Amino acid sequence: MKALIVIDYTVDFVVGKLPCGQPAIDIEGRISELTERFAERGDFVVMAVDLHDENDLAHPEHRLFPPHNIRGTAGRELYGKLAGTYERHKDRIYWMDKTRYSAFCGTDLELRLRALGIQELHLVGVCTDICVLHTAVEAYNKGIAMTIHEDAVASFNPQGHEWALRHFQQTLGAQVVRADQPITL
Ligand code: ZN
Repeated sequence: MKALIVIDYTVDFVVGKLPCGQPAIDIEGRISELTERFAERGDFVVMAVDLHDENDLAHPEHRLFPPHNIRGTAGRELYGKLAGTYERHKDRIYWMDKTRYSAFCGTDLELRLRALGIQELHLVGVCTDICVLHTAVEAYNKGIAMTIHEDAVASFNPQGHEWALRHFQQTLGAQVVRADQPITL
């Protein structure tokens, strides 16, 4: 069994309070397609979704970014087609709130992966060079193999996006793949 971790593909991160913009809109179809495929196959699919409370002055992001992904707001809903895909498959998708960049930080993700004997993660979502990157670094440190879907990750920062793709491959030893490359998912 493999795991697909879908990171922060919410309204706020695509077009809302802290938007990646067009690059994130462009991956809408591919993210939904991969989520559908992994869920239908019975793999472990995780929606890792940033969660903040209003006026949480103690949170380190408070000084770094405008408020985003606030609990209970529309900005925290999944963006575009992914919302429908999640609705159709939500009985077999694990919704996991997270409060830091990495999907491992303060969550039970590692315990769940170990319990299911999962050795390989597939990562998609935003931003390539922030939350996807931090999740990948932590997976690397835990000895978990990774595949990053180049056509299903995006950033507001084109240089950061390209840098992170190289970092995944050259420094974290991940596979970086696209739909037009013949790989076994
Ligand atoms: Zn955040």
